[in-house]
Amino acid sequence: MTVQTEEAGIRERILQLRQLCGKQEDGLKGELWVCEDGMGALYQARSAGFCFGVQRAVDTVYEQIDAGAFPIYTYGPIIHNEIVVEDLRKKGVQVIQSPEELSQIHEGKVVIRSHGVGRQIYDRIRQNGLSVVDATCPFVKKIHRIVEEKGREGYEIVIIGSASHPEVEGIRGWSVNEVTIIETQQDALEFTPRTNKPLCIVSQTTFNLKKFHKFVEIIEKLSYHECAVLNTICNATEERQTEARSIARLADCMIVIGGKHSSNTQKLYEICQKECSNTYFVQAFDDLNLRLVPFRGIVGISAGASTPHILIEEVSNLCRKRILSRC
Ligand code: SF4
Repeated sequence: MTVQTEEAGIRERILQLRQLCGKQEDGLKGELWVCEDGMGALYQARSAGFCFGVQRAVDTVYEQIDAGAFPIYTYGPIIHNEIVVEDLRKKGVQVIQSPEELSQIHEGKVVIRSHGVGRQIYDRIRQNGLSVVDATCPFVKKIHRIVEEKGREGYEIVIIGSASHPEVEGIRGWSVNEVTIIETQQDALEFTPRTNKPLCIVSQTTFNLKKFHKFVEIIEKLSYHECAVLNTICNATEERQTEARSIARLADCMIVIGGKHSSNTQKLYEICQKECSNTYFVQAFDDLNLRLVPFRGIVGISAGASTPHILIEEVSNLCRKRILSRC
């Protein structure tokens, strides 16, 4: 490819990106920055960073600190982000890691994070004389109610999601009967109902939408049971995934920012990687190898639901400086 053709290709893609950003409906609504010569652009996804549920949970802990309501505990780290968790630790918030640890504590408040917990954890907190500050995301709370009610109505519960994820453990903890968890296509293919009751299928809120539909299709084909399928994937996840996919299709380099234990960041990374082979997963700006960020072309930035805005800004500023350094 000649230099002229390559340059024309870059200009064409940047123009396409500008048009997408200018569209009223279905357009990209994030921040677009294009350098003066039109050969370098950076797009920062609007959906990058804290979702409503995470913001609410983090705010709840800071409100408890401001109210001086110590001792304050969170059941598990409030979000999958070490920087935020460390800041809270310095301010005196302690993390309870397990039900065993919880049973040793008899004074204070326990904040339930956005992932939620099973019914037994609420019972244990109250039995120990502790108060509950419930920051479970309302969308997760809704799944708890569905699972509990459908279980009582006689449905067999199937959760599509990652078995080891705390949100899924919490959802499982609201079922009155045994639950089956489907994490992979293989699990779906091997699924055998435990009973001959109708099935109720729900999803982890951060599960990949395409995979959810695929697994449901497999289960419905295999099973002779009546199925109540409830797509409980949260819009915030869908929006973030759709926006990241659209930008990754045009980008020369994608940067996905988030904690290494954040499953939604990991999924975002997988989606971007499929569309753009130069996709990098970074936890913070000092993880970013700037030599891998191209001077020319489009750089896209997205971030998981537990990534603080300040980290996104730091990475974004660094990338802009890198692109500008060519001019
Ligand atoms: S991703 Fe959705 S369900 Fe999960 S915490 Fe955020 S808003 Fe709530």
